[in-house]
Amino acid sequence: MSFIRAGMRERTTMEKLVITLAPTGNVPGKDLNPDTPVTPAEIAEDIEECRGLGVSIAHIHARDEGGRPTHSKQAYGKILAEIKARNIDVITQLSTGARGGENTPEGRGQMLDLACDMASLATGSSNFPNSVNENSPALIEALAKKMYENGIKPEIEAFDAGMISNAKRLLKKGVLKEPLHFNLVMNVPGSIEGTPRNLMFMIESLPPGSTWSVCGIGPSQVSMLTMGILLGGHVRTGLEDTLLYEKGVPATNAMLVKRVVRIAKELNRAVATPDQAREMLGL
Ligand code: MG
Repeated sequence: MSFIRAGMRERTTMEKLVITLAPTGNVPGKDLNPDTPVTPAEIAEDIEECRGLGVSIAHIHARDEGGRPTHSKQAYGKILAEIKARNIDVITQLSTGARGGENTPEGRGQMLDLACDMASLATGSSNFPNSVNENSPALIEALAKKMYENGIKPEIEAFDAGMISNAKRLLKKGVLKEPLHFNLVMNVPGSIEGTPRNLMFMIESLPPGSTWSVCGIGPSQVSMLTMGILLGGHVRTGLEDTLLYEKGVPATNAMLVKRVVRIAKELNRAVATPDQAREMLGL
């Protein structure tokens, strides 16, 4: 539920905190941070370790044999198979993001044939530093349709306020179905900056009854996640979002998750189990 209507203004206790791990995006490689997991086994290993630390959702990107980003169903399938083989109780969320190299609905949505719980859905376009985060109206609708047909809950990735506006429009149109779940992606270079005022504005723009999480790219990591925990939302962390733990100190996924759990504890916010997260998100 949106904290505005059901959270901090009327309640002094909050829902448990759902922590998502984004262990590897499309940008990081071993050259940028040697602890970046790239192979299916490395990715599953980090998910397993971080599940033990309090993570309940794994946001997954795949790489090809050469370590390049890919939308390949086979590549995603290998990661899901590793998670299954290790018996990790985690909510699986596959990325349909624009950086995987393809831009047709067939290419971008091919991993949605796999058995997974959630998938990312950007509801608008923006710029990355060196490429376009291209999500045409036809592509967004096709991906959403396939997600619902396959029983996959979309996580709406809002890189800017306009993507929330478009999600509301798609809800009215029947393309998206309530209750919506958002990830507020703060501080991607070229999109909305990760400031407290901007995060408050994004949260207050959400449709009533939505659940939300926040991720803070690069130096906005600690401030955005701390605000998310305080305001009754949920949080995402991992090397996809920041390669540094602090200035000059390379991060690992476990270091980032441990910090979130410590902050949550100090702020009196209990961490959700995967089953509690499933219930909160209606999975
Ligand atoms: Mg991603």
